[in-house]
Amino acid sequence: LFIVFEGGEGVGKSTQVVKLAAWLRLRGQEPVVTREPGATDIGMRIRGLVLDGKDDISPRAEALLYAADRAQHVTEVVRPALAEGRVVLSDRYVDSSLAYQGAGRTMAADEISWLSTWATGALKPDLTILLDLDPAVGLKRAGERSGADRIESESLAFHERVRYAFLDLASADPKSYLVIDASGDPEKIALEIRERIDVLLTR
Ligand code: C5P
Repeated sequence: LFIVFEGGEGVGKSTQVVKLAAWLRLRGQEPVVTREPGATDIGMRIRGLVLDGKDDISPRAEALLYAADRAQHVTEVVRPALAEGRVVLSDRYVDSSLAYQGAGRTMAADEISWLSTWATGALKPDLTILLDLDPAVGLKRAGERSGADRIESESLAFHERVRYAFLDLASADPKSYLVIDASGDPEKIALEIRERIDVLLTR
């Protein structure tokens, strides 16, 4: 079972990934918890390039680097874990590229989609959990959490395009998504996620 968490800055993805993993362990599962960018050694180097070099990087180079990170991630982590029958929880996947590189940097969605399909060998999640939040609120949360070491360089308009791209992807394929209002209580959100995963596990 391949479960992906998506959403903009400060929506609480990592908190929910940890909570879901803990719940799965109580149910006797051994989930693999992973993320993009940077789940592998090569991916960590790419993460450094895309995040530290953010101001100099061209949009196409950025898109290719995220795709390279993802190709390595799928080959080294996700596919082997799925082959062992493990549940994989990934903090970000293809939709982040469609939202950030596609809508955010205004690159053609079909090109980013093609690149992602090629990079992953067309591996799709069984479910994507989209945590949706007004970026004005999310950026504030993310800023408070990380202090001055992560100054956000993109505009609010950029993050609004990202948000609506995620929502559009979910509404185009509702069966494959669980969209959650991330402004609510984290415990309630965790419960909503568990209910849906429970159905998938007992299917
Ligand atoms: O999820 P996390 O906060 O670790 O992601 C790091 C940053 O990488 C995000 O703030 C996001 O702006 C950026 N990112 C991106 N395109 C992706 C994935 C992440 O711009 N495909």
